[in-house]
Amino acid sequence: MKALVALVGRPNVGKSTLFNRLTRSRDALVADQPGVTRDRKYGIARYGEQSFLVVDTGGITEQESGVGELMRVQAQLAIEEADIILFLVDGREGLSALDETIAEQLRRAQKPLKLVINKTEGRDQELVASEFYRLGLGEPATISAQQGQGVGGLLQDLSTLLPLEGKEEAGIQARGLQFAVVGRPNVGKSTLVNRLLGEERVLSFEAPGTTRDSIAIPFCHQGQDYTLVDTAGIRRRSKILDMLEKFSIAKTLEAIEAAQVVILVIDAREGVVEQDLHLAGLILESGKAVVIAVNKWDGLSSDQRRKVKADLDRRLPFLDFARVHFISALHGSGVGELFPSIDKAYRSANCHLPTAELNQALAAAVEKHPPPVVKGRRIKLRYAHQGGHNPPKIIIHGSQAEAVPVNYKRYLINYFRTAFALVGTPIALEFRTVK
Ligand code: GDP
Ligand code: GDP
Repeated sequence: MKALVALVGRPNVGKSTLFNRLTRSRDALVADQPGVTRDRKYGIARYGEQSFLVVDTGGITEQESGVGELMRVQAQLAIEEADIILFLVDGREGLSALDETIAEQLRRAQKPLKLVINKTEGRDQELVASEFYRLGLGEPATISAQQGQGVGGLLQDLSTLLPLEGKEEAGIQARGLQFAVVGRPNVGKSTLVNRLLGEERVLSFEAPGTTRDSIAIPFCHQGQDYTLVDTAGIRRRSKILDMLEKFSIAKTLEAIEAAQVVILVIDAREGVVEQDLHLAGLILESGKAVVIAVNKWDGLSSDQRRKVKADLDRRLPFLDFARVHFISALHGSGVGELFPSIDKAYRSANCHLPTAELNQALAAAVEKHPPPVVKGRRIKLRYAHQGGHNPPKIIIHGSQAEAVPVNYKRYLINYFRTAFALVGTPIALEFRTVK
């Protein structure tokens, strides 16, 4: 399990600025994709080899009216779900009454807490900090979320506050390919999970301990081991039910990170809605292999079916590399066919692309459709090699290579995809200019 770090603080102290700085590591996969909705409240932050979940609690409640109420809900959320709380204050404005109120609530939470003084660039750090010792929250970190200064040190502090990785549930070993079933509430995840496990049932099982635990369920299908990372069916009810329901995105993200292949479930009766787009954006950002399951396909008219298919093309073009299955979790139709697609997506994500063949493919792609002329000179793409797996990354060297426009990148990605029969995985391209 990954640690969840919550950013808490009154409006305008720089929570979303810090959030963006912490979570932008996967931008390369999503930057050029039209239609991607990224959920800016939840993200994965990476620090060296470690990664953790981060939530901007300000982002969650920005619709809420009344600052008092907002703070209450924020703090409550942080208390219930977070492993570490980062309490942000504004070093330029100094300590405010609202800061003191929040501090009071957070102190009662008895969670690991770090006071973070933001907007300290160009200031005397000690002087700025001195005023905030009054809060009694220990040694503050001074940072500039905007300039990035102090953020590395903050991450280092965090990693000592708790082991960011490795809160494994006792006793459960993942076996074989790990996949997760994700989707917004009511699309049929639990039904699908039960159907997938079917009679194979389960080699071991452990009940979740906290609100946010996902569980790993190893099972065997047609002689092959799989582990299902399950987030479904374990929603807790509480006073702030609504907020927690939204907050289960944190759990979803965790499952995505833990999985090698993600099944995104969509409800055919509702079509592709905003929340599906958010999840799709998060999956793309994770770089994980994907299979799309359009559920509740039973009993739809052919008109409705046409509409859903058009919806998929129009709203999820950025997942067009994923295989789409039209299924009924309730009746079981189409469910078994998910397995070959899961396997194929996994193999594609981890494929080995021999350099000689990559270069042949690049040469053929360039010959068929040369890159454009930029600043009076044609872009030349000379050679390629594989720079990584999961997702496969192809590094292309050439002259003016960094000037390759978006549509040509897409052309190349599609060319490689066809040439190497890669299905179900995003492909990352990186361009390097040789002088
Ligand atoms: P939030 O409401 O807490 O999410 O705050 P935002 O991230 O939206 O930031 C509020 C304002 O403070 C914006 O105008 C930011 O550009 C600015 N800001 C954020 N971080 C810094 C910083 O490190 N230094 C300075 N000078 N301004 C910052
Ligand atoms: P979850 O919240 O995503 O886990 O969704 P559930 O598995 O609890 O299903 C939500 C509702 O959709 C339940 O009433 C299910 O019986 C129903 N449902 C699930 N799959 C199907 C399906 O394939 N066809 C139909 N018609 N209903 C389904």
